[in-house]
Amino acid sequence: MKTKKALICGVSGQDGAYLSRLLLSKGYEVWGTSRDAQLSKFSNLVSLGIKRDVKTISMAPNDFKSVLQALKDCSPDEIYNLSGQSSVGLSFDQPTETLESIANGTLNFLEAIRFLGKDTRFYNAGSGECFGDVTASGADEDTPFKPCSPYAVAKSAAYWLVENYRSAYKLYACTGILFNHESPLRPDRFVTKKIIRSAVEISRGNKDKLVLGNLSIFRDWGSSEEYVIAMWLMLQFDTPTDFVIATGQSNSLESFVKTAFDKFNLDWRSYVIQDDLLYRPNEVIFSKGNPEKALCLLGWQAKIKMNDLIEKMIEFELYNKHLSIKTNRK
Ligand code: GDP
Repeated sequence: MKTKKALICGVSGQDGAYLSRLLLSKGYEVWGTSRDAQLSKFSNLVSLGIKRDVKTISMAPNDFKSVLQALKDCSPDEIYNLSGQSSVGLSFDQPTETLESIANGTLNFLEAIRFLGKDTRFYNAGSGECFGDVTASGADEDTPFKPCSPYAVAKSAAYWLVENYRSAYKLYACTGILFNHESPLRPDRFVTKKIIRSAVEISRGNKDKLVLGNLSIFRDWGSSEEYVIAMWLMLQFDTPTDFVIATGQSNSLESFVKTAFDKFNLDWRSYVIQDDLLYRPNEVIFSKGNPEKALCLLGWQAKIKMNDLIEKMIEFELYNKHLSIKTNRK
């Protein structure tokens, strides 16, 4: 059987690294892009021990020539577009970069695929942020978008471009509308990693305070390792269609903090300070996804919930190793 070739755009992030590992395990030839492959250290690929197995190339998603060249050189069967600015918070400070890298970037991929005319399957990294605040039952594929940040606006535009190219030009293109997904490979910019790292440092006596923004928000936190499986399953499905990927459970940031500190028998209230300066100009308060469609059509379901995720992240922080099985750490 012919070896399948996958091009993972934005391979440096947590999803890029876990997806690379998954596809390599399935026998794929994996190519990965970053804006400057010569400068990038690809530390997440190194951390998973797969840096040498992935062919890394340079590509800037907002530059059509660069996207076209990458697609021509690689000639992939499947493209996973995980590239673009990935932080909601940062998007308020870098709105233009966010719009260009996400919306224009996605458009460049769609145009390049159409231009080359090959039978290529395209996965677009969407976001649950597009829904804005949702009701208690959670957002599904039919819930209207109400984006609350430049990031969510950009992801919404990219979603509609994918939908448009799918119906207008019959491209095999789909969007995974993923809710927050975390892992030990997350950078500190994201609140989960910031909390876990701080809890570990406080437990070691190296730090006394953790400064956070709005603790009253609720998020549907899942595991990046599991969510990349859903990405792959989406591109194996007969017809291209969009899927919400989430755990279906929403927890407050306060309960995330409490659970993490409890693992060290620390009372979080003694260490956490809330600072209004860390509040965002606009905020989604309650976020939750309804992943029914993914279960029905792909057989995919999140097994790792918030508590398991916290355990995995703590384990990595303490021992710098990945837990691939569930622990019973109390
Ligand atoms: P993102 O919003 O999906 O990019 O993920 P984040 O991890 O950056 O933020 C998740 C939620 O945590 C948001 O509602 C933030 O407002 C909230 N939050 C509260 N305090 C902090 C903080 O200190 N850092 C970050 N990054 N987020 C915080």
